[in-house]
Amino acid sequence: MEERTFSDISYGRFLNEEKLMGSKCKKCGAFFVPPRPICIECYSSEMDWVEIKGEGKLAAFTCIAVGPPFMIKQGYDRQHPYCSGVVELEEGVRVVARIEGVNTTKPETIKVGMPLTVEFLHRGEGENLKTFLAFKPA
Ligand SMILES: [Zn+2]
Repeated sequence: MEERTFSDISYGRFLNEEKLMGSKCKKCGAFFVPPRPICIECYSSEMDWVEIKGEGKLAAFTCIAVGPPFMIKQGYDRQHPYCSGVVELEEGVRVVARIEGVNTTKPETIKVGMPLTVEFLHRGEGENLKTFLAFKPA
């Protein structure tokens, strides 16, 4: 694998390639998703890329009816809320992601603790391709 800096840009490029990657501190083993260039536990700058399997469970969520303009453009509104969640990965790290494949108009059907699997949402093309991290029921 080519060397990539531990930045949001690298993280986004990996998402475009359908890889969820984090950085792991070589000194103390702390794990960061999205990756950090410097460990917040021991301040080491020696990091390794680690690929995340993409299995986890829902730790918390919120259904958002009035989103930012780029979400409204994607067709989400009061009638079509989207779900933003915190997913606890098998690796023990929590990551914020979109939750797909759930009934956002009936939030009571969405259960904390439900098993989830990663999904990559590609939006735009070419230079403008951006991939959003999402999870769906496993
Ligand atoms: Zn560390």
